[in-house]
Amino acid sequence: MENGAAPTAKPVIVAIDGPSGTGKSSTSKAVAAQLGLSYLDTGAQYRAITWWMVTNGIDLEDPTAIAAVAGKPEIVSGTDPAAPAITVDGVDVAGPIRTQEVTSKVSAVSAVPEVRARITELQRSLAAGAANGIVVEGRDIGTTVLPDADLKIFLTASPEARAARRSGELKGADVAATREALIKRDAADSSRKTSPLAKAGDAVEVDTTELTLAQVIECVVTLVEEKRAGK
Ligand code: C5P
Repeated sequence: MENGAAPTAKPVIVAIDGPSGTGKSSTSKAVAAQLGLSYLDTGAQYRAITWWMVTNGIDLEDPTAIAAVAGKPEIVSGTDPAAPAITVDGVDVAGPIRTQEVTSKVSAVSAVPEVRARITELQRSLAAGAANGIVVEGRDIGTTVLPDADLKIFLTASPEARAARRSGELKGADVAATREALIKRDAADSSRKTSPLAKAGDAVEVDTTELTLAQVIECVVTLVEEKRAGK
């Protein structure tokens, strides 16, 4: 079958987790586009709620203050892999959520259980509404958000490879500083109490250190096709 969007195809739910800089977003978007599936960037949702908290002057050192307003912002995610979109209270925040400030504060916000409950609910309803199926990328998708996903992938890469990729994306950023920031964020995301970054027991681990993006995409597309064929 050339296109996974064929009307007879059963919706397939693919969970792609892993730390920052492993190629999750590029891989997930390309796999979804190639197979005619929807796409959800769950990191963008946590960044969006963090952006709202920063903009509204919430004290991010205080989990109780974060929890108290977790239900306030309306976050809407587009699920087209060709044009991922995200708004908060109707404002397009696709650019502002990528700033250094949001990146350095998102782990404190995403660790708060009330924030996770809110965002997890949004994620489950988007996944349930995806007619052809969906690729959902994040940190806790296979373990917590969609434990019954048809296919779970856990992407890894060496800290050096991850820092090099991320500083390439940030155009000219210092690799050593990027590496330190990545390690710090991953440590916070992995050690939080509520649904930390973790590999699900039934996830397929793909180490992308020595692979090109095209090779990772091909590997995941093959795994999805094998699942669909019932292998
Ligand atoms: O993937 P990205 O780097 O944009 O994620 C930003 C942050 O969002 C992560 O560092 C993590 O704190 C949080 N996150 C999460 N659970 C997810 C996805 C992202 O806690 N499923």
